[in-house]
Amino acid sequence: MTEPTTPAIERTLILVKPDGVRRGLTGEILRRVEAKGYTLAAVELQHATPDQLATHYAEHEGKPFYAPLVEFMLSGPTLAVIAEGQGVIAGFRSLAGATDPTAAAPGTIRGDMARDWGLKVQQNLVHGSDSPESAEREIAIWFPGR
Ligand code: UDP
Repeated sequence: MTEPTTPAIERTLILVKPDGVRRGLTGEILRRVEAKGYTLAAVELQHATPDQLATHYAEHEGKPFYAPLVEFMLSGPTLAVIAEGQGVIAGFRSLAGATDPTAAAPGTIRGDMARDWGLKVQQNLVHGSDSPESAEREIAIWFPGR
């Protein structure tokens, strides 16, 4: 039998998207991150620029939801966060739940607090990096020099 491995200490980029800021959910979302035992290393309210979003969402350029996604992300301020902890990258994505808020399980941020508003883009409250490489790439976009 192999011993369970301890997840590495990592950092991740979390965004509370404009719907979460508008709906006053930043406190509840950060509370869940901290309650899980992750550490907040940076928290800053930012109004994203088109250049920042083009880089952040480069992998989605050309997809049908790309233009409405960028428009949504420009519609108000975003709370940008660096969170740290063992296994925080997968751990935060587990806290966030499935991309589609209708499919997201109860107990997750999206499952508990987001729903399908019938809009062209999923307004699903949060973003979380999906790998160590994405985390470093995205942290450099939102927190240059960190
Ligand atoms: N998105 C959407 N429709 C889709 C797929 C994605 O509106 O069919 C939006 C949604 O806001 C999502 C973001 O694009 O959070 C980025 O998509 P990704 O597949 O990276 O999902 P995530 O990693 O955020 O769960």
